[in-house]
Amino acid sequence: MPFIRTLTGDIAPDQLGRTYSHDHLYCLPALWQEKGETDLLIDDVDATLADVALFTAAGGEAVYDATAIDYGRNVAKLHEISTRGGIKIIATAGFNKGIMWPARMPGQECTYDEWIAARTRGDIRDHVVGELTQGMDGTDLRGGVAKFGTGYNAISAHEDKVMRAVLDAHKETGCPLHSHTEMGTLILEQLDIVKAENVDPSRLTIAHLDRNPDPWVHRKAAETGVFVCFDGISRVKYHPESVLVDCIIKLVKAGHEDQIVVGGDIARRSMYRNYGKGGLGLGYILASWVPRFVEEAGEAGLDGAGLIEKFFVANPARAFAWPD
Ligand SMILES: [Zn+2]
Repeated sequence: MPFIRTLTGDIAPDQLGRTYSHDHLYCLPALWQEKGETDLLIDDVDATLADVALFTAAGGEAVYDATAIDYGRNVAKLHEISTRGGIKIIATAGFNKGIMWPARMPGQECTYDEWIAARTRGDIRDHVVGELTQGMDGTDLRGGVAKFGTGYNAISAHEDKVMRAVLDAHKETGCPLHSHTEMGTLILEQLDIVKAENVDPSRLTIAHLDRNPDPWVHRKAAETGVFVCFDGISRVKYHPESVLVDCIIKLVKAGHEDQIVVGGDIARRSMYRNYGKGGLGLGYILASWVPRFVEEAGEAGLDGAGLIEKFFVANPARAFAWPD
């Protein structure tokens, strides 16, 4: 039977429930600590739990936490948030993106760049397989997804090595895959590498493609079978929400409603409600964005409520599933 690997055990996909498909419930990125970027440090379990209560009150049941080790992952804290908050959390093996790698690796005498440089593609594959099958950060808590990422219109040699190693880890374990794109660039180029490495694109979810609200790129990506994650909700300083909603509606009308997932990518204290800054909070998408989307989908002649069930329940249950 297919299963989903959460921090509190493997479950049947239909047990996952209403899911945000890319968020950060706890992260202490070493680079942002070194640079004093305090808004990007999500390190207060009680504050996160107060926001989790907003999420569950709005019907939320599960979160894919997209924090890999290089973005300051702490699986013990995530496990505590899962059990105390009463939500399922899928955690992240692999790596996030190269711009984080000048920072020092936790527990190591070297930076991420140095650690990666000293290892072969096979070494990195074995490391990621261990995170998926043995445990992460010195615990027995295992990753449910393996992640890789690329830069802004650039793939460094180290990012290329890590990406192919993560694809190898997928081939060895069958794990679902997730990728970071910087400002939504290189979506199609990532997919070219996935296909060249003989990995089925439908095992991958690409994040942040709405930072590049280009319906042609979104459609070309979706035609490969990949899952696409809309996680830039409420970032109105970049573009109005209507741009993102229109991109989703265009993808649905092109026949890709079974490949769309949604998350908040909440990774700033100022985005949380309970980190002292009064942001929109972890409940915002389900409580406020969903009704807006349902209304606009209806105006476009679509079944908005049915689409929401797919985006938040049926699609994550497939995107994050491991095979038999
Ligand atoms: Zn993220």
